[in-house]
Amino acid sequence: MSVEQYLNSVYETVTQRNPHEAEFHQAVKEFLDSLAPVFDKYPHYQETGVLERLVEPERLVSFRVPWVNDAGQVQVNRGFRVQFNSAIGPYKGGLRFHPSVNASIIKFLGFEQIFKNSLTGLPIGGGKGGSDFDPKGKSDGEVMRFCQSFITELYRHIGQDTDVPAGDIGVGGREIGFLFGQYKRIRGGNESGVLTGKGIGYGGSLARKEATGYGCIYFVNEMLKARGDSFGDATVVVSGSGNVSIYAMEKAVELGAKVVACSDSGGYVHDPNGIDLELVKQLKEVGRSRISEYVKTHPHATYTEGSTRIWEIPCDIALPCATQNEIDEASAALLVKNGVKAIGEGANMPSTLEAIDVFLKNDVLFGPAKAANAGGVAVSALEMSQNSMRLSWTFEEVDSRLQDIMKNIYQQSVKASEEFGAPGNLVVGANIAGFLNVADAMLAQGVV
Ligand code: NDP
Repeated sequence: MSVEQYLNSVYETVTQRNPHEAEFHQAVKEFLDSLAPVFDKYPHYQETGVLERLVEPERLVSFRVPWVNDAGQVQVNRGFRVQFNSAIGPYKGGLRFHPSVNASIIKFLGFEQIFKNSLTGLPIGGGKGGSDFDPKGKSDGEVMRFCQSFITELYRHIGQDTDVPAGDIGVGGREIGFLFGQYKRIRGGNESGVLTGKGIGYGGSLARKEATGYGCIYFVNEMLKARGDSFGDATVVVSGSGNVSIYAMEKAVELGAKVVACSDSGGYVHDPNGIDLELVKQLKEVGRSRISEYVKTHPHATYTEGSTRIWEIPCDIALPCATQNEIDEASAALLVKNGVKAIGEGANMPSTLEAIDVFLKNDVLFGPAKAANAGGVAVSALEMSQNSMRLSWTFEEVDSRLQDIMKNIYQQSVKASEEFGAPGNLVVGANIAGFLNVADAMLAQGVV
């Protein structure tokens, strides 16, 4: 069987074994499409069935989450945790609370996480979890009762040396606090490394909140530098207005860029004078409000319903930081037509396969998610280290390690892209560099 036939057969098996899981299929396809040159060069990966093992999670837990709302009615949600691969270290990956969560979403995220974590060079395996619970519009009491119920089942599957969840969409500091508090009540003691993204006052790491957004900017900055370019005076569009978006905007502005638009799931704000970030933080971090409120105090800005049309705004650098598949082929073509120079994927899988093709064919610098947004999980791993050592590093120390890690991920990706015949294609580079670390660790441990 040729390498091409072999890779197709692995993909076929994935689609047959996991029917109706479009997002998972997409993540696997994007990955497998990069691997032919590796399997051509190193046939032993095929002979040892490493890929067949990689695409099958070690474990997927699905569970009932019953809780009582403020009106006294019983509610039932579904919880998930996928423990995808532990070759390199304890499973590590966030929890997502969003109505769209299902097994496909959790598996695509967990699969990506394996290679992202491997790229950080830190000892963490790949996992992901979440629930179809929607925190939006819920009271603090409802969110707390949901989190307590969720962890009352999940606690038996996690631990600081086995599986360490963190935040993702809909899971921020408030939710991590509730989850951690209940975990401690059940387990006793203070196993602080069991969750990351904790508050600074109880074991959290400085710079964790900023890490994914800052890390994405550090990565894009490396891509720009290689072309003799920079963030200075660049016009930037950022989708979303959550954790990743806010800190991507903050660092981009610090490096001299002007961010002119951001969004939420309702629509987007365009402020040609530059987005007022303090107001966005006030609206989204403090107030849990809608981005449409922005124009009430900034009447010169415009609000447009429908978040995907944000890509119609001309920009030099586009940072999709909201959710999966938010840039399709048409949006990518429009960005290219309007002169975009670089894309940094802050979100997971925000560009469709067709959109990625458009960017690569038009020589747009493209920072794929598993490389560009690895800063969050990297600092989560640093939080675990600080918890184990029972000490806290300064913001500057963590930020400086984050910068080194992002530069290293960039360099690994560039090197792999060159070695395997696709120079400058960081999708191929990140997939291959991530794969090699995990595959070698798996092979060293036998048939596991
Ligand atoms: P948040 O919940 O803090 O923010 C998510 C933002 O995206 C919100 O503005 C939200 O709008 C918007 N959004 C969510 N769903 C949609 C949708 N279907 N259409 C349009 N906008 C949407 O999440 P994060 O910032 O933590 O995560 C954002 C992305 O980054 C995700 O893809 C996540 O997997 C990825 N990521 C996060 C990491 C982290 O450390 N947090 C690490 C690595 C990747 P609204 O408020 O209306 O829901």
